Amino acid sequence: MKALVFHGPKDIRYEDFPDPGLSSPHHAIIEVSHCSICGSDLHLYHGDTVGPMDFSLPQPQFCVGHETIGKVVEVGKSVKNLQVGDRLLVAGGAGCGLCKFCKAGDLRRCTSDRPAMVYGFSPHMNGGQADYLEVFAADNAAMKIPDTVSDEQALLMTDAAATGHFGLVGSRFEPGDSVAVIGQGPVGLMAAEVAVAMGASRVFTIDPIKARRDLSRGFGATPLHPDEARNVILQETGGVGVDRVVEAVGRPETITQTIRLVRPGGGVGIVGVVLDGDWGGVPFLRRAQGKSVSVMAGIANVLDSWPTLMGLFESGRIKGDGMFTHSFDLKDGADAYSLFDERADGVVKIMIKP
Ligand code: NAD
Ligand code: ZN
Repeated sequence: MKALVFHGPKDIRYEDFPDPGLSSPHHAIIEVSHCSICGSDLHLYHGDTVGPMDFSLPQPQFCVGHETIGKVVEVGKSVKNLQVGDRLLVAGGAGCGLCKFCKAGDLRRCTSDRPAMVYGFSPHMNGGQADYLEVFAADNAAMKIPDTVSDEQALLMTDAAATGHFGLVGSRFEPGDSVAVIGQGPVGLMAAEVAVAMGASRVFTIDPIKARRDLSRGFGATPLHPDEARNVILQETGGVGVDRVVEAVGRPETITQTIRLVRPGGGVGIVGVVLDGDWGGVPFLRRAQGKSVSVMAGIANVLDSWPTLMGLFESGRIKGDGMFTHSFDLKDGADAYSLFDERADGVVKIMIKP
């Protein structure tokens, strides 16, 4: 098959790669129809890696990408819920599918000794920016896509929308709350759109890139430039701050900013990933403690969000409109990465089609 293969920082190549086979009876193979590039893929693109993904060791090449949908072409003997031909959406992170935590649906707690159970970040799990993908634990970590959900919406559910929803839930959001979302990439945009759909009284969206924050006006949020955000939010909330803040950037300064925007006793959900730089943890926690703010910082268990998101997408209460600004053929994948990496104003999310 053809695939986008990681050779090193800023070196992703379209080339031949062995077709995936079934390495477990719990897995399935899909023919990829669409995949997309995530902000997290750029961390890898820059050579920044997380935890067990250690590229300082000599390793074989691997296919990149963890946001993938496609058509089932083969299922392992133990897969019960899927059939050849099903249109499938794949959770960006998967687990072994066999341990008790995977069976219970919390893939993050997988006890398998295989490191980095995320597609496309290491040779342990090839990614889906390719013609075919081996889907791990297919009964548990993938889902049939209803006809009423578009390809774009299904792609958003593989990671970005689920992470946005996870950040909002982690902030202890309840209907009627006021919310600020820092960062209006796909993750932050989805957090904000879900907040509006789930009955937030007010949603402020913050991003230095105008085109990105303006997208959120379309679903009823109030877009703000980072320089004006704190003043406007304090003004509009009687000087106390919003009930909930979601951080979807991944920088020490925006993580600190969550505590400056939230009201005393409020909650923040941090989903942005800081790979380079110091988290500055203790001063941050001192501020959080001073305001009695509950802090959730985590990696989404994508599956948890699917029932809610599927309902919101199917009923049209969230749409994810305007998110995919560009589409590339797989063969031009290296250009797609370099365009996405430029952070140009008109680029929000890029779809890639094998
Ligand atoms: P993205 O890079 O497209 O979006 C980040 C946005 O933050 C950009 O629009 C950027 O302009 C904006 N930004 C930069 N500085 C800012 C500032 N000072 N104030 C406000 N906004 C600012 O990325 P994305 O795909 O939306 O992902 C967002 C973050 O979430 C990334 O760090 C990514 O790694 C992380 N992520 C986490 C999980 C998880 O499970 N925790 C899953 C997926 C992605
Ligand atoms: Zn497991």
